[in-house]
Amino acid sequence: MSRVLLLLPTTTYRTAAFLAAAHRLGVDVTVASEQPSTLERLNPSALLTLDFQDPEGAARRVLEFSQDWPLDAVVPVDSQVVVAAATIARVLGLRHNSTESAAAAEDKHQMRQLFLQAGVASPPFTLCRLDEDRADLAARVDYPCVVKPLSLAASQGVMRADDPQQFVARVDRLEAILACQDGDVAGEFLVEQFVEGPEVALEGILTDGALRVLALFDKPDPLDGPFFEETIYLTPSGLADDLQESIAASVQQAAGALGLTEGPVHAELRLAADGPVVLEVHGRSIGGLCSRLLKFGSGLSLEELIIRHAIDQEMELPDRQSQAAGVMMIPIPAAGRLEEVRGLEDARAIAGIDDVTITAHLGQQLVPLPEGSQYLGFLFARADQPGAVEGALREAHRRLEFVIQT
Ligand code: ADP
Repeated sequence: MSRVLLLLPTTTYRTAAFLAAAHRLGVDVTVASEQPSTLERLNPSALLTLDFQDPEGAARRVLEFSQDWPLDAVVPVDSQVVVAAATIARVLGLRHNSTESAAAAEDKHQMRQLFLQAGVASPPFTLCRLDEDRADLAARVDYPCVVKPLSLAASQGVMRADDPQQFVARVDRLEAILACQDGDVAGEFLVEQFVEGPEVALEGILTDGALRVLALFDKPDPLDGPFFEETIYLTPSGLADDLQESIAASVQQAAGALGLTEGPVHAELRLAADGPVVLEVHGRSIGGLCSRLLKFGSGLSLEELIIRHAIDQEMELPDRQSQAAGVMMIPIPAAGRLEEVRGLEDARAIAGIDDVTITAHLGQQLVPLPEGSQYLGFLFARADQPGAVEGALREAHRRLEFVIQT
């Protein structure tokens, strides 16, 4: 039987989906996490503690482990562990993304530099320092622009500025956000040109550098800022076939520019007047609980596809089931303590709604964007047409009421 090593950071939303996928596929699983488990001694083949911040050390530990329990694949489930996964796979001699490419996809500045060198259409950018004079910087920037940190995720700290005064205020705010982060914060940030146009997301998988598109999502809510909260993702996309092809070609080119060659990719693009502009490409699959809306072939989940592909890159990848599907990431409307969630049954009763999952817990201190990085939960819908999916998501959202003590 094959054995897969799942790298599961403790903060991930995706544990249940990956464990269920491995179980359904009938593969043996070793779960690696950064927090030691008291059960590790009792079940040494199933649990492993790794320091994901030290990829080489983690790889040595896994190599030792694999002498007793040989591994056929390493699967990173989230951004924080992609560099560790690439390093471990290299040391074990498994097919892998280079560690440089995995790291570049997690560093917004490196990503922009590699896109520029390779001629990938992406926003013009400037690397700035927090200790530079902000009024000077503000006078040199073109507006509208986007101010963003180099390495946070989920739109945390990403802000639009339309004039010099706003720019200075946004950089002040970013500095405060960065000051609250653990670890080494470089004191640098990016300023990019704001790219106008609708946004799409692409989910794909790479085999030996070649991209296979698994799903293209439309994002029907305008993302004009000042903060960039994700809400609805809908698939299949309603865009014309030739535009869909040029989106896929842009993502293929962008993955090549980063050097990503194996496994899942998740990309975000804006559709500008003169074609797709790549905002980001990550060497991991879609985040949160969003993957739940994807089903392939006879009903395989995205996680099953990823694990199977990691074990056997030659496998035929089934198509996504054709029914329209969508997810709404429920934004946090205000800062405060979550006291109560009302209307859950009403929301679940809307035709087309598959599931309503609230991931925030009662009593939780909620922090909206740009300081926060979480959602209240997720709504999932299916219907014959994407328009009906969108309608169901919006109606279900309207029926939910979040009581927040501000
Ligand atoms: P993260 O990795 O935290 O999601 P991104 O750089 O992808 O950060 O930015 C998050 C969101 O902010 C994007 O999905 C997009 O809506 C918006 N955004 C970021 N950069 C730009 C830009 N240059 N032009 C327009 N929108 C942008």
